[in-house]
Amino acid sequence: MVNTKEWTKSSWKNHTALQQPNWPDKKKLDKVIDDLTLMPPLVFAGEIRALKEMLGKASKGEAFLLQGGDCSEDFSQVTAPNIRESLKVLLQMAVVMTYAGGKPTIKVGRIAGQFAKPRSSDTEMVNGVELPSYRGDMVNKVTPTIKDRTPNPKFMLKGYYMAAATLNLLRAFTRGGYAALHRVQSWNHEFVVQSPMGRSYDRLARQIDKAIKFMNTIGIPTDIPQVNQTQFFTSHEALLLPYEEALTRIDSTTGGWYDCSAHMLWIGERTRQVDGAHVAFLKGVLNPIGVKIGPNYDMDNVKQLIETLNPENEAGRLTLITRMGCNNIEKKLAPLLRETKKQGYHIVWNCDPMHANTYTSESGHKTRDFNDILKEITRFFEIHWAEGTIPGGVHLEMTGKNVTECVGGARNIVSEELHNRYDTTCDPRLNAEQSLEVAFQIADMIKH
Ligand code: PEP
Ligand code: MN
Repeated sequence: MVNTKEWTKSSWKNHTALQQPNWPDKKKLDKVIDDLTLMPPLVFAGEIRALKEMLGKASKGEAFLLQGGDCSEDFSQVTAPNIRESLKVLLQMAVVMTYAGGKPTIKVGRIAGQFAKPRSSDTEMVNGVELPSYRGDMVNKVTPTIKDRTPNPKFMLKGYYMAAATLNLLRAFTRGGYAALHRVQSWNHEFVVQSPMGRSYDRLARQIDKAIKFMNTIGIPTDIPQVNQTQFFTSHEALLLPYEEALTRIDSTTGGWYDCSAHMLWIGERTRQVDGAHVAFLKGVLNPIGVKIGPNYDMDNVKQLIETLNPENEAGRLTLITRMGCNNIEKKLAPLLRETKKQGYHIVWNCDPMHANTYTSESGHKTRDFNDILKEITRFFEIHWAEGTIPGGVHLEMTGKNVTECVGGARNIVSEELHNRYDTTCDPRLNAEQSLEVAFQIADMIKH
């Protein structure tokens, strides 16, 4: 794909950018952006191309995408144990999905940069005081005071360092032996080991272990990267365009522009206007791009988005992340699949069963029901099968921690328990056990 002729990394500024913070000090913002422009890239063009190639396979049903992580990463949670726990649960899910699902799993974290959030309103009332809404740690702080809620561009610089530290550890874990298949049993979380999911996982891990030992016994080498390492990619919503612009660089090998803040970037449901700044920016970078599509989409508009973001119909370039809700998916997904199939578009279809299944529990917590999540995923697969299209992946808000944010699951968390460990600064996440349960439930559907 060639870049659009008139495109430059700052041409998005000629378009309306929704969901941008009200930065109080323009000079301070410019200074931060100048500093970020000089910083090294966080990811590299070669890695981005590798992911795009794998996503191309997912669009044909030869691989399956697992994209997951926090709704909003929290600076105070960027610690070695937390990063390890997040990675562990994604590795566990991927091994279940690959082994039982029979297809390579592409691992993409919502991690190392998921620090900025779109909000339904610019301000909110807290104890009778109108405050700017919390827009993620790269913008302001969650604590409800005027001072902490005022956007501070320096947090973007901090976000860059947090992303760099996170990536550094992820690279060490995934390349340095931690993600080796010999260690598959050690990825089980302490609080999951004794659960039904933990036991199923342990059985599967032991089978993998046996297979590796058998290969060794008969002299097939297992000290190979396919066994000892794994490829792990990063992604976030490309919301703060000055930050994304600052990390956009020319690749010396190909001369193309890449947004080196993450391997994959997505455009949210609220910022996907065809003539808007987010689309104007992302159409010119060569990364794989995701776009969230909610139940109120307009078909012509989606077609324009596809044509704008992927004019050469390159497989792996465009992932549509559908988030219809378990009650809407029935009537909303099929027409979309039919029309895009008729047009011959190459698309990775990714199911986000989280964002249209959110509600407030009696206890006052924003939550999601495990059954609704599973129902949307199941219907997603079934509708694809019926339409002859390819279910290519799942997109989950999840954590390696033992939180109580979503109700249901094998341990049946009830609404009265949500307050026990409700730690999210934004949307409710599946905990490690619930995430693993999703992986077991969908493995058979992946194989189909
Ligand atoms: C999100 O992924 O956290 C999000 C805000 O999603 P959406 O754009 O689909 O609402
Ligand atoms: Mn969210």
